[in-house]
Amino acid sequence: MSQQTSKEEFAYKLDRLRDAVDAELLLNLLGFKITHVNEKEVRAPCLIHGGANKTSFRMNKETKRWVCFSQHCHEDIGFGVIDLVKHMLNMTFMEAVKYLESITGVDVHDESNYIEYKRHKDRQEIIKQADNRKIPPALTDETYLKSFRKFRSDYFEREKNGGFSTDILDFFEVGGGYVDKFGFQRDVIPIRDKGGRLLAYSCRDITDKADYGYKYLLTEGFDKDKVLYNLFRAKNHMGNSNTMIVVEGFKSVWNLYRAGYKNVVACMGSTITQGQQHLLYSTAFNVLTLFDPDEAGAKGTIRALDDMKGKINITPLFVPYAGKDPGDLTIDELRSIIGIIN
Ligand SMILES: [Zn+2]
Repeated sequence: MSQQTSKEEFAYKLDRLRDAVDAELLLNLLGFKITHVNEKEVRAPCLIHGGANKTSFRMNKETKRWVCFSQHCHEDIGFGVIDLVKHMLNMTFMEAVKYLESITGVDVHDESNYIEYKRHKDRQEIIKQADNRKIPPALTDETYLKSFRKFRSDYFEREKNGGFSTDILDFFEVGGGYVDKFGFQRDVIPIRDKGGRLLAYSCRDITDKADYGYKYLLTEGFDKDKVLYNLFRAKNHMGNSNTMIVVEGFKSVWNLYRAGYKNVVACMGSTITQGQQHLLYSTAFNVLTLFDPDEAGAKGTIRALDDMKGKINITPLFVPYAGKDPGDLTIDELRSIIGIIN
């Protein structure tokens, strides 16, 4: 390969890297306080000269070129996105390239990543077209899920009450790299039906900056009424007694699984809906509920007993530690509550 060709190839790869950069995400990461976003550009006060004008800094979302209208900072620094990263993070050219690789998932040195890059770009397009706070249904696809799985963050590993191993997170197919319309990065939890078909995602904000009530976003149009999280796996582990444990959330399922209880499903809320009740009747003989020790959990437990008594053998279990959800308990604590299931 001639030197000319490899130079051209490198320039081509840098173009791809530039394309893959999400202007809003990058500027957020660099500390810019974004004031205005439209179809073409992102505006903010210029952090380079520190001016107060709320729209002096503008970056084109397509080309990632930027200008500073107040002090013309781009004339000193260069108007490219790599120039900006070099300046803001005090990096060399190659360090800036590596930084952009890390936030886009594009590796300019590895051609095989081109497919991944295209998927990333497709995903970004679909996300941009969506107009509300739900996850676009078009992403509910095994191919996208595969590409999400490569971008899982360490959020559930390092979280205060998390500490989930990569093995557990791999087993439950947790992914990442979803960036919502507000620039918040999210990890991706796939939800499958009783037969294992991919139905939806729940996406967890890993920045802890999303508004209250939007920590988890669900796929648009997903109706949880006839779905129990993890049922397609749990139904094979109910033992001779045909027992199913029902918890509220994803993390509780993972935590019980970690403690050796594989016959566990989540109702994804604090109520077992009518549709979920029917799923349980058709799957199990015995149901154990283990809801969160708060008011919603207590109400959900009482309602489950009222609704399901006489139709299935249902036993409520309770967490005796205030402020600790089943997802937060140690393996010993869980075993002391649930005991041995045959
Ligand atoms: Zn400036």
